[in-house]
Amino acid sequence: SVDKERANNVAKIKVVVRKRPLNKKEIAKKEEDIITIESNSNALAVHEKKLKVDLTEYVEKHEFVFDAVLNEDVSNEEVYSETVQPIVPLIFNRTKATCFAYGQTGSGKTYTMQPLPLKASQDILRLMYYTYRNQGFQLFVSYFEIYGGKVFDLLNERKKLCMREDGTKQVCIVGLQEYKVLDVETIKELIERGNATRSTGTTGANEESSRSHAILQLAIKRSVDGSETKPAKLVGKLSFIDLAGSERGADTTDNDKQTRMEGAEINKSLLALKECIRALDNDQGHIPFRGSKLTEVLRDSFVGDSRTVMISCISPSSGSCEHTLNTLRYADRVK
Ligand code: ADP
Ligand code: MG
Repeated sequence: SVDKERANNVAKIKVVVRKRPLNKKEIAKKEEDIITIESNSNALAVHEKKLKVDLTEYVEKHEFVFDAVLNEDVSNEEVYSETVQPIVPLIFNRTKATCFAYGQTGSGKTYTMQPLPLKASQDILRLMYYTYRNQGFQLFVSYFEIYGGKVFDLLNERKKLCMREDGTKQVCIVGLQEYKVLDVETIKELIERGNATRSTGTTGANEESSRSHAILQLAIKRSVDGSETKPAKLVGKLSFIDLAGSERGADTTDNDKQTRMEGAEINKSLLALKECIRALDNDQGHIPFRGSKLTEVLRDSFVGDSRTVMISCISPSSGSCEHTLNTLRYADRVK
């Protein structure tokens, strides 16, 4: 069928790198842009400055190839059409898709991630109201975060939630607020509410958000006979995940015990995520979900007809070279 053909044409796993522009602070510090991307290519190079023992400088060039490489001129609109847009129609046909933003704090994860669910829901609603008119499809939104291995509802006063496996081995988050939405404006308000809840947590805005994974889910449901009155069943799902700062996983030697524990949890979840995506690609059957809370929560999105998009965000500056190389190596392992 046409639907099936279209589904087959969308890669199961897509790894994209997005480079942000140098910011004012980096320019003021005379930091250099060490990332080169040739136009219309999917390759990039990192030019790492190194020092020999005799103190002469030299540059080591590291080259990488991904499914797509987006330079600093690429707009959020283009990021959407390159990553999520091709997947949107599939979720009306039982596909579950996940889009991750990975990278160090300050690399552009939130800047990249924030507009995507809005653009996606705009397209979803258009399909619902035109192409699939009167077929009983409904759109639901939920928004939560995983912080220190625990789940908090961002649309319900950051209420702490538990997970439970039901009879069919489906993992669900008990009591997670789900809002049925009919228009993009409502989704926008919900996201803003969730963001405010996220940043007014215990320790203040940036600190907090760089140590948590924020997960926004758009679920398509449909009542069995297509009517609006019967309870609706899940059809497909699209999850947007603004991951914790990748450098936080290295906080395992910090003096503060809390920070160490959170660092260990982040490290564990990013490793588990990598292993799960790799297992998806190999079609091994066994996917190591239980490695972390993050992968457990995403379990139902990895089974069946799934799609994964990893957007690796990198800073161009010489000062971030080491973190950038770590991010690119992680992305390279996933692709
Ligand atoms: P992260 O979420 O990874 O910590 P942010 O998304 O908050 O990083 O980005 C850090 C800063 O850089 C923000 O001020 C953001 O507006 C800016 N920024 C990030 N990516 C871009 C981009 N592609 N173009 C312009 N500004 C960007
Ligand atoms: Mg952020």
